[in-house]
Formats: sequence, structure tokens, C-alpha cells
Amino acid sequence: MVSLTFLGATGTVTGSRYLVDAHGTRILVDAGLFQGLKELRLRNWAPFPVPVGSLAAVILTHAHIDHTGFLPRLVRGGFDGPTYVTPPTSRLLQAVLPDAAHLQEEEARFATKVGSSKHAPALPLFTVHDAQEALGTLKGVPFGQRLTLRPGIEFTFHRQGHILGAAAVELRIKVGGGDHITIYFSGDVGRYDVPILKEPEPYPGSTFLVVESTYGDRLHDPGDPREQLTEVITEAIERKGVILVPAFAIDRTQELLYLLRELVEDEAIAPLPIFLDSPMGREATEAYRSCVQEHDAEMRELVRGGVDPLVPPNLEIIGRVDESKRLNTISGPAIIISASGMATGGRILHHLRHRLPDPSTTVVFVGFQAEGTRGRRILDGEREVKIFGEMVPVAAQVRSISSLSAHADADELTIWAGEPTRAPSTVFVTHGEPAASRALADRFAARFGWRCLLPSLEETVTL
Ligand SMILES: [Zn+2]
Repeated sequence: MVSLTFLGATGTVTGSRYLVDAHGTRILVDAGLFQGLKELRLRNWAPFPVPVGSLAAVILTHAHIDHTGFLPRLVRGGFDGPTYVTPPTSRLLQAVLPDAAHLQEEEARFATKVGSSKHAPALPLFTVHDAQEALGTLKGVPFGQRLTLRPGIEFTFHRQGHILGAAAVELRIKVGGGDHITIYFSGDVGRYDVPILKEPEPYPGSTFLVVESTYGDRLHDPGDPREQLTEVITEAIERKGVILVPAFAIDRTQELLYLLRELVEDEAIAPLPIFLDSPMGREATEAYRSCVQEHDAEMRELVRGGVDPLVPPNLEIIGRVDESKRLNTISGPAIIISASGMATGGRILHHLRHRLPDPSTTVVFVGFQAEGTRGRRILDGEREVKIFGEMVPVAAQVRSISSLSAHADADELTIWAGEPTRAPSTVFVTHGEPAASRALADRFAARFGWRCLLPSLEETVTL
């Protein structure tokens, strides 16, 4: 008997966790943290529904914390591996997991200080030590290589664009009579015609498909991000303002650096000072630079020509916290790129606290802003937002360049899924807010005639 239980990413974009039970062998595909609304975040503390020690393996699609950040918690609870990842994902996780743990420890210290926890001292979800232990369970498996987990249970990673190392997971399980079924987990689907990384491999077909739907009800702004960036930067230069970009440290940051270099080289914008104020952004940029086998043709061409595609002129990389704070004294025009991308933590917070009240500032969002996050509130036009416990008025200009997303939109998801050699018997639409998942399910049903279901939290289906 084979069953699939949805332990997260149902009705929300975070907490991706899919439990497969294949004839008694338990495999967890993705081990993500819930983020955003408090009711979601509390789920990170709920007991895991099966004994953690009974997991035969964890397979992670990519390094984003909403797909991997629960791994240290599993390890803390007794899971000792293996955790399968692509080699570039392993590289990114060396920075991602300790950073996430550090944030958890910091939050716990803050909760202790203000007395907002029922525990004294407040407990972190996991510690830096747990994160280090989790890194010890990682095993790299290259794209396209089939790995046998147990006799009759195999999996393969397929390139998915999105971010460095991102994969879809094809799980192949033997059933009676020499037959087998395949479950294809899309992970997060990337985009076509974006710089730096190779494109997503098309969905090849499977018995079952689990597909993300972050932008299932939307199309990205068809505009050219280069033109939109040029417009925003030119306006800010006229106002002599600082441009604050809350950017996901992985991928958005590298794509921004790439585009800014291009714009300066093409003389579309003046070479203004650019500060990368994100230790993780710096680490991720190193990983992007060194994983040359993931580069697309254009990127390879640039590198061969002696260009560093991820370094625009006038780039300064900020290291220590005091250097980061010193950026509060600079005046525009300048660009500060800092994480986190949804303004839920990290150094961007002190920049926002300092600059949101200033009408010469432009805050530019370049990625998805989940419900309940500070980024979403600012983008939705709230007049003040809470940062470090105090209300900060929003007088800054707020812009969004949605054409810069790392996620496929509804059309791109349709292209990705559109020509399988074998149609899925059932599609489980996950990793989206309810309207987005519903829209993608309706679209796939209408376009391809596929049976599409929206699983609910902790629902188990027998395959
Ligand atoms: Zn992702």
C-alpha cells in the first residue's frame, strides 16, 4: 500500500512537507517551516504526526526555508538521516540552516526579554547546534541520477530553475505484478527566459502529480524588469532618495546584481552606489558563481569573456553589523539590497525602521509577499507597520517589480506541465493561497482534462 499525507503547504505557500508511506517505508519530501500568520507559525511547534525516528529518508527539493527549515527540528527530535539534496542545495544549506537557527535563537532571546513566552527563558524552535547536526545528514545526489532508497523505491531529481539547485522529485515505487507508480513533486517551478540559471525541465508525466500554485491565479507583469528597474532607479535618483530592496538572499539578490550590472553597462542608469547588506546574500552569490554547471549559456559566455556577471560597478559588500548600521547615515541616491525578502527578519528591518518615514525613500519589492508578513502589509499600503515592537509610519514610495519573481506564473506553470508523455491520473494542487490553488486546478482541468484535487492539511490519500 502506498499513501501520501499532506503535512503542509495546503491553503498556504509555506510549510511544504509531504509524507509518503510506501509499503511501510516512510519518506518525507520537503521539511519546510510554516511562515507568515501566527496560526501558521504555531504549527512548527506541533508534534510530528509519526515517530520522527521512523522516517527512512528526507528528500528536499530546494534550499528555501519553507521547504527545508523544519529539518533541524526533525533532527532534534531524533531523525538521523539520510537527507537527500542536489549538491548546489547542499552548498546553500550550509548558510541557510545555521542562519535560520540563529534567527530562532534571537527570537527566543527577544521573547524572553519582553516576556512574551510562557517559557522562561523562551525556547528556540531549534538551535545552531541542531542546524549543524542537520547539515551532517545531507547527502548530495546529482540531477538526473536515479537513486535506490529501498528495493522497489527509487527517486530522481530534475532541474527546476527557481533557485540554484532547485529540483522536482520523481519518486518511483514498485506495486504488485511488476508494475510501478510514480509521484512527481514539482517543488517550486522556476521561470523561462531569466538570466543566470538553466531553465526548468518540462514535466515528463507520472501517475500522480503534486504541483505548486503560488501564482496559480496570476500572470506576472509582462513588462521587462530591466525597464521597470530603470524607471524606479531614475525616479529615485531625481529625488536623491535611497532605494531599499528587501530581497530574498538566494536568487532574487543574484538576479538583481546581474540586472544592475547590465543596466550600468548599457548606460540605462547612472553608476550609483550599491550596497549588498546581507551575509547570506553574499554566501549565496558565491555559490551561484561557483556552481558553473548550473549556469545558462549567456552566463557561461560572460564568464568566458572575463566578466563577473554578478558584480555591478560600485558594489560594496557589507559585512559586520556596525557597518550595516552605518548605512543609516548615507544619503541617496543609492541602493541597499538586504534580506529578508518579506521583511520578516534580518538586517532589512533596521533599514526599514530608519527609512520608511522618509518620503524620499523607495521600497522596491522583487518577490512574493506572503499573507501576514510585514512585506505584504507595506505592499498593501498600510500607513504604519510594527518593527522591533514600535509603530513606524510609512511615508516612503512603495513599488513592486513582479516581473522579477522566481516563481512560474499561471501561464508558465501550464507550459511546464503541458506536454507530458503520460497524463497524471490525479493532480494534487498545493503551495498556494486558496484562490490561487483553485484557479490552477480549474485551469488544468479545463485545459488538459486532468482530475485536480486541493488536499487539506493532514489529509491522507491512498494511491
Ligand atoms: Zn522556493
